[in-house]
Formats: sequence, C-alpha cells, structure tokens
Amino acid sequence: MNLHAIELRRVCLPLVSPFRTALGTESVREALLVRVESDEGEGWGECVAGSDPLYCSEYLDSAWLTLRRYLGPRLLGATDLSASKVQPLLHEFKGHRMAKAAVEMAVLDAQLRAAGVSLSTFLGGVTGAVTPGVAVGIMSSVDELLDSVTEYLDAGYRRLKLKIQPGWDLAPVEAVRDRFGDDLMLQVDANCAYRRADIGHLARLDQFSLLLIEQPLDEDDLVGHAQLARHIATPVCLDESIVSAQSAATAISMGACSVVNIKAGRVGGYLEARAVHDLCVSKGVPVWCGGMLETGLGRAANLALASLPGFTLPGDISATDRYFREDITPPFLLHDGTIAVPTGPGLGVEVLLPVLDALTTQSETITAVEH
Ligand code: MG
Repeated sequence: MNLHAIELRRVCLPLVSPFRTALGTESVREALLVRVESDEGEGWGECVAGSDPLYCSEYLDSAWLTLRRYLGPRLLGATDLSASKVQPLLHEFKGHRMAKAAVEMAVLDAQLRAAGVSLSTFLGGVTGAVTPGVAVGIMSSVDELLDSVTEYLDAGYRRLKLKIQPGWDLAPVEAVRDRFGDDLMLQVDANCAYRRADIGHLARLDQFSLLLIEQPLDEDDLVGHAQLARHIATPVCLDESIVSAQSAATAISMGACSVVNIKAGRVGGYLEARAVHDLCVSKGVPVWCGGMLETGLGRAANLALASLPGFTLPGDISATDRYFREDITPPFLLHDGTIAVPTGPGLGVEVLLPVLDALTTQSETITAVEH
C-alpha cells in the first residue's frame, strides 16, 4: 500500500479512579492515536507512551515529535508498504519503540482490513477468549486495598496483580492472602522500585506462593535480577527490561527471568511482540500480556496478541470499565471471567468518532515529507 496521510490525535480519558504505582499516580490517561490513510483504506494505531517519561524514556510529546519529524515522513515516502516493512524502514532511527509500534499498528490494521483478516488470525492466535487479570494500584491503607480486591473478585477477575514498592509489599500481600486464601492467583509488580540490597527482603515474599514478582530492580540490571532469581523461590518476571526478542533471549540465558511480560509498545510493535512470544515458547518460558491503560484500540490488539498459544498466564487486559467510564470504541466486557478476542478484520473494533472528537485535545495531519 501507499500512504496518503498520517493523522495524529491526542486524547484524554478520565480514569474511573486514580491509579497509583511506584512510578506515581494517574487520574487521566492521555493517549496518542495514529490513523493512516492509504490507497487500500485506513488503519488505527495507539502509542502507549505516557504523558511523562516515568515508565521509560519515551513520553507522549516525544512520540508525537518523532512521528511528525521522522517516522511519518519516512513511511509517507515509501512505496508498496506493508506492516513487515515498517520496522526495517524505521530502523535507522534509534529507540522510540512506542512511537514505531503505534504507526506499525496502524499500517497493520489497514493491511488486514483490506485483506479481511483479523489481527488474531494474522498473528497466529489459537483462542477466541482470554482470561484477564487486573492490576491493583497502591492504596493508602490495607483496608482500602481489601475493599478494592473484593470488588474485582466480585466482578469476575481471577488473577490479581498488586503494585508494590518499599513500604508497601509484605503487609498488603499478607493481608490479601489472609482474606482471600492461597488459591487466588496473585502476583506483584514493583516497576523497578527495589535495589540489589533488598534481595533478602524480597525473599520474604516466598511465603505467599505468588505466581511471580515482576520487575523488582532497574530495567538495565539483568545481573541483579539473575542474583535475585537464585535467592528466591518466587519466579522472576521482567517487563521494563525486555525491549526486543534479542533482549529477551539475553535475559533468559542469564537466568534473569523465568517469565516474560510482553507489551507490544515496549518492544516496537506487534510483529516484534510475536517474535518475543516465539522466542519464549522455544525456551519454555511462559508469557503474559501486559497493559498500559490502553484505549479500546490497544485493548483490541492486546487481546489478539494474548490469543497466541504461549500466553499461558492471565494478562493485564482488563474490561473497559476497570479504567474508563467512556472509551473511544465500544466497551470490552467480562463474560464468565473471560474477554472475547475481536474477530473482525484488522483490530476488529470501530472507533466511535463523536466520542473520539469530544476527547481529542490536539490533532495534526502529516501529508508530505518534512524535515
Ligand atoms: Mg509491569
């Protein structure tokens, strides 16, 4: 296909409740959406970079500028474009994986809509519904946490992930185990909040039979994670550290993790995410799909990704109402503890344009090469 135009939109979705992690507290979710217009039709993508560079170095304004100045013009100038050509065409531009992933997703959506193929089918999905988990933020008290967990269990979630940080780890995990029992699928996520000196402390989590501990140390500290993995029985999972299939192979070979959280935005797109999945399957490492408070567009794509056979653990793809009262697509609902994988062409969801327009705070269309 040949692209005619790339539209960037910044949208702002209020969260149903503030979400606090070791990285800070969010009360709204800003997202950068990408719409490509091509001679084969349009396609939508979503950039998962946050408003500020807290999860990683990318943030929304940097992604916008990168798309407008470098990525967009390069793809607008390409002929016979397809999703598999996006990353090679953009390879010379270092980093900016979330921006690259967004535009690759839009091209992939356009390509698959034109071909009448769903993203799940294209990626190699094997299931029509996935079991979601829910990420529970850091609360101001254990009682508040227990009330929140009760609500999620009542809503039908079968796996919970507690965000932890120094000072909010053993006590909340113990309280949840005491109240809800050992059969609850429970894991924790530290978002890089600990240091190697905390390894002895983190080993005390072993008594709670967690599914895994996610990214306790710095993203570049694979050696530290390998040390931790040797000292604790709880499986170590990496999130922020895994930015490509190659980095996943390195981390696994070092013994730095035995589980991998896959986020397409973090690794540069859904094609690389599939490559990470394939690598992990070949190594016998289970994977699950992480979440970045995506709108319905990213949620649809994550459901397609999570339908691949290596996703044997529940992911963070919650129902829409976990995060938003109103989304830019029809909502995803929980049915008997599962969410259906979209089956329509491309992402398989349609954007609700009046809602999108009402939530859009900035837009720009790129139509010609700019430098
Ligand atoms: Mg994480």
